[in-house]
Amino acid sequence: MSKPSYRGRFAPSPTGDLHLGSLVAALISYFQAKANQGAWLLRIEDIDETRSIEGADQQIIKTLARFGLHSDETVVYQTSEERQAAYQSAYQQLEQHKLTYRCSCSRKQLSGLTTYPGTCRNKQHQTEPLHSIRLKTNQQRFQFNDFFQGHQMQNIAEQSGDFNIKRKDGLFCYQLAVVVDDADQGITEVVRGIDIMDSTSRQMYLIEQLKLSQPNYAHFPVIINQVGNKLSKQNHSKTITHEDPYNTTWLALQLLQQNPPKEQKKTQSALLNWAIENWQPEKIFKQTQINYCVDTP
Ligand SMILES: [Zn+2]
Repeated sequence: MSKPSYRGRFAPSPTGDLHLGSLVAALISYFQAKANQGAWLLRIEDIDETRSIEGADQQIIKTLARFGLHSDETVVYQTSEERQAAYQSAYQQLEQHKLTYRCSCSRKQLSGLTTYPGTCRNKQHQTEPLHSIRLKTNQQRFQFNDFFQGHQMQNIAEQSGDFNIKRKDGLFCYQLAVVVDDADQGITEVVRGIDIMDSTSRQMYLIEQLKLSQPNYAHFPVIINQVGNKLSKQNHSKTITHEDPYNTTWLALQLLQQNPPKEQKKTQSALLNWAIENWQPEKIFKQTQINYCVDTP
C-alpha cells in the first residue's frame, strides 16, 4: 500500500493528561490531515525524561481514543532505542561537519540573555567535564509560508544564537529530536501552536545541515483564558480526562469558528466526520489567539 501523500502528526509531551488547549491542538492536526486524505500520526515527545510523568503517555493515548482519535501508525517514543540511535547519528553528522562545540556556561552566566553570546565558540580545548553541545549558526534569514500565519521571516542570530543540541546531562535537545523525527516519519506539514513558531528557523537550519526534506508549517492560534494565559498544564488548566467527548469536541469546534451542527444526539464519530468534511481552516487564518472564558465555580 502506498503511503498517503499528506502526513501530519500530534506530538504531546507526557507531562500530564490533555486539557482543552492540547485537545484543540490534536483536533486541528487531525482535521488538517484527514481533510487532506492524509495520515495522522501520534508521537510521544518524551525526550526530556526529567519532565515526563509515569503513565501520562498511556493516559493521553486513552483520552485521545475516547475522543475517537487514533494514530494511523505505531506510536513513536523519543526515548526508544531506535529514535535515540537516529538522534545520535544526526548529532555525529553535525560533529563531523565541525558545526558543534562544547559550552560550559552556567545558567547564571546566561541569565537575562535572550540570545547566546557565543562565549564558548572559540575556546580552545574546552575541558570542563560538564558541558552542553551547541550548534554553530549564522546570520542567514529563513523564510517560510505558514499555512495559518502567512509569510514569515526569522533569523536565528536574533532569536537564539548558537543553540544547544545536547544538554549537560547528555540528553538530546528537542530541536534536534523533532527535525529528525519529522523527517523519519515523512511528515509533510508540521501543525502546532504559534507559541513555538519562533523555533522554526532553528529547525529549518538543522534540516538544511542534515540534508533532510523540508516540511510545510502551520502554526495555529493558542487558546487563552480570561486573564490572558495560554491554556496549559503549567497554568493548571482542567484536564479533559472525564469530560464528555461530544460536548468538548463541539466546544473546540466552536472556538475554532467552525459552526458545529446545533442538533445533538449525534455520535462522536459523526461529529468528527462532519468536522473533516466541513473543515474551514481559513476561519482562523492570521489569528494568534482565541479567547476562552473558563467558568469559575
Ligand atoms: Zn558557553
